[in-house]
Amino acid sequence: MLFVELGDFMIVMKFGGSSVRDAEMIKKVTEIVRSSLDRKPIVVVSACQGITDLLLKAIDESFQNKLDAYLEIEKRHRKIINDLKLKENLIEDLLSELKNLLTANYFIKEKGNRLRDHIAFFGERMSSTIIAEYMKTTGLNAKQFDSGDLGLITDDNFGNASIMHNTYELIRKAFKEKVNNQTIPIITGFGGKTLNNEYTTFDRGGSDYVASIFGAALNAEEIQIWTDVSGIYSCDPRIVPNAKKIELMAFEEASELAYFGAKVLHPKTILPAIESKIPVKVLNTFDPEDKGTTIVDKCEHNETTKILALSIKNAIVIEVKSTRMLDTYGYLEKAFAIFSKYKKSVDMITTSEITITLTVDSDKFVKQISEDLKQIANVKTYGNQKIVYVLCNPKFDKNEIVSSIFRISQEIKVNIHMLSMCYDTISIGLVVDDKDSVKLVKELHKKLIET
Ligand code: ADP
Ligand code: ASP
Ligand code: MG
Repeated sequence: MLFVELGDFMIVMKFGGSSVRDAEMIKKVTEIVRSSLDRKPIVVVSACQGITDLLLKAIDESFQNKLDAYLEIEKRHRKIINDLKLKENLIEDLLSELKNLLTANYFIKEKGNRLRDHIAFFGERMSSTIIAEYMKTTGLNAKQFDSGDLGLITDDNFGNASIMHNTYELIRKAFKEKVNNQTIPIITGFGGKTLNNEYTTFDRGGSDYVASIFGAALNAEEIQIWTDVSGIYSCDPRIVPNAKKIELMAFEEASELAYFGAKVLHPKTILPAIESKIPVKVLNTFDPEDKGTTIVDKCEHNETTKILALSIKNAIVIEVKSTRMLDTYGYLEKAFAIFSKYKKSVDMITTSEITITLTVDSDKFVKQISEDLKQIANVKTYGNQKIVYVLCNPKFDKNEIVSSIFRISQEIKVNIHMLSMCYDTISIGLVVDDKDSVKLVKELHKKLIET
């Protein structure tokens, strides 16, 4: 057997949930992979569409001794196996382990993220097993692997794990020891494993990140994210149906857009690619001929519009006000130490002499953070807010863009509560009431992108 050398695998192809949702799509994916064999692919797959949601529902139902979601999961996978004419008992062990765990949880009532990750990971374990087995029946030399068994080792921050400092090294070592260079590895997305062999996830949408970790570790020449749209658009096409595709983007632009709500990429996807300067492509499984979006280190935009893209992210605004801040130093440090204590990241921040206003994306720990902040300041929180994120076209003057945004928001009577713009900025953040966010995005798109 010939084991892998660095450089043996040239592309990583990641297929998302909708790309592997049923037998027809798995057949499509198989043909896309077959047409790339000369580029020596590594394949990373998500759970079939909707299965992760059902697994999380199954955990909730386990507390009431209900198995409805589990039965739906079983039915959907059995149908796919049957439609692909694979052996009936292909995932029997996985299904019975899942059912036993859910049944036992009625007595154990485990609510922590360790069990949540273990159960949520069944989706990827089942889909990768089915896809590898189907590919084999069509003559491809595919083999299923759990990402964690190929060196994707993380810390034990279940639900939102981080890779270890030596994960890339572990991946390279595992590939050398376990992967024949004639095989096509079909690897679980979503997360990895701890050193103790426990499943961990990178939170929802984490399979994109898994793909780019493998790409960077193995020095691939390209990371391909195959999904249900033809690339990154100027806005989520579900919000603005005539959003335009952006053909070329810079790493920094794509990562900010993803971080501020464009679900098409997991926010961390680009990080490993940036470090290794590997281009990332976003491609459409439903239209494989489309060139999609290419994300590279640096790029010149052909677009002639003032702004390139818009996205929306949840926000809770926290206002911290104190006259003690006047003319003192170390105050911000004290405030931020409280956010660090709760491992809470801050998305947007503006300051005046006596006020810091910032946003976080969920109410988790907001109560505790507010209580702690009250020891040093007066604190107010505002719920039901959204950040409207505006990715600017670097060719245009920022002031011109800001004045257009304010003119348009005034015309449609939307109040902007917070504005964030850096010195050398590629983007502008606006906080508005939840109810106004879609209206503002649609109008900005119409006036600043469509015309
Ligand atoms: P997958 O299951 O393949 O990972 P996702 O549902 O996670 O797919 O991401 C694809 C979806 O992202 C699209 O269907 C689209 O609605 C949404 N999306 C959000 N913002 C954008 C954007 N700017 N461009 C393209 N798609 C976007
Ligand atoms: N299956 C996981 C989810 O639905 C991971 C992924 O698809 O990227 O979030
Ligand atoms: Mg996704």
